[in-house]
Amino acid sequence: MDMKKIPIAISSCLLGNKVRFDGGHKQSKYCLNTLSDWFEYQPICPEMGIGMPAPRPPIHLMEKGDQIRVVQVDDHSEDMTDELKAFAHEKLSEIDQISGYIVIRNSPSCGMERVKVYHENGNPAGKSDRGIYINEIMKARPELPVEEEGRLQDAKLRENFITRVFAYEDFKKSVRSAPSVDALVKFHSRYKYLVMAHSYDDYKTLGRLVANNDGNSLTLLINKYEQALMSTLKKLANAKSHSNVLYHILGYLKEDLNPTAKQELIHVIEQYRTGIVTLIAPITLINHYIKQYGNEYIAQQAYLNPHPVELGLRNYI
Ligand code: SF4
Repeated sequence: MDMKKIPIAISSCLLGNKVRFDGGHKQSKYCLNTLSDWFEYQPICPEMGIGMPAPRPPIHLMEKGDQIRVVQVDDHSEDMTDELKAFAHEKLSEIDQISGYIVIRNSPSCGMERVKVYHENGNPAGKSDRGIYINEIMKARPELPVEEEGRLQDAKLRENFITRVFAYEDFKKSVRSAPSVDALVKFHSRYKYLVMAHSYDDYKTLGRLVANNDGNSLTLLINKYEQALMSTLKKLANAKSHSNVLYHILGYLKEDLNPTAKQELIHVIEQYRTGIVTLIAPITLINHYIKQYGNEYIAQQAYLNPHPVELGLRNYI
């Protein structure tokens, strides 16, 4: 995989830019200090983007009839909904150049989920929604990996998001840059086990899509595959599904392994399945055996190295 930094959009305040309504920021050390070795950030502040100053009066989501609007808290006639939606659509050509988006939670513009909605009288409406700007982006580009910075503190969600970013970037470089059925078949061949770890049913569906193209045009086929792939990878893998994949890989290696090595690998997979060790343990052992015995089909599997080992993401899941 090309190790050039991956372009990622990010809520500007997470990089430490003083763009928030109170004139401050919400700098994320994890984004700045760890992920920045791999990601090239493109900061976006939609509220500043529509010309709001910093500091500025706070805004919130408000239920108005059957609509959710974003308005100034102390003056509902100041309604930014249409401008924020239009700004999102203006940004789509830039969004097409990136492979992921990290947003901040609770923002009526950028929050990905559970942003509080208020009644016109100022009381909580007892419901939540997505920030107006990011909702437009996510509706227009459902395949784009989007995650809230706060959720990256959860090891499973963090590993899932970063897996999706690297897979999406790889898909763009391997398939979108020079589209062909051959490129798609080769990509799918490398991603079979990663897909299987996220959903066995989707693994079969994606395989059928690539094998029987049903007369779709190449563009339609690639679009369908991309949507299906990215929605599959969003599903969280778990110890059971990972163990299933690990045993499939063992099936490829067992001819080459002597009985002791095979028993050792089964032992480590079982230790992982029962929660005694983390996923990195069986993966490291398998990568070791693959180096020794060189099974090409397995060696190329994205599942074995979906993201840089230096990020240590599989040490915690
Ligand atoms: S609009 Fe988004 S980027 Fe700008 S300050 Fe609010 S949360 Fe941060």
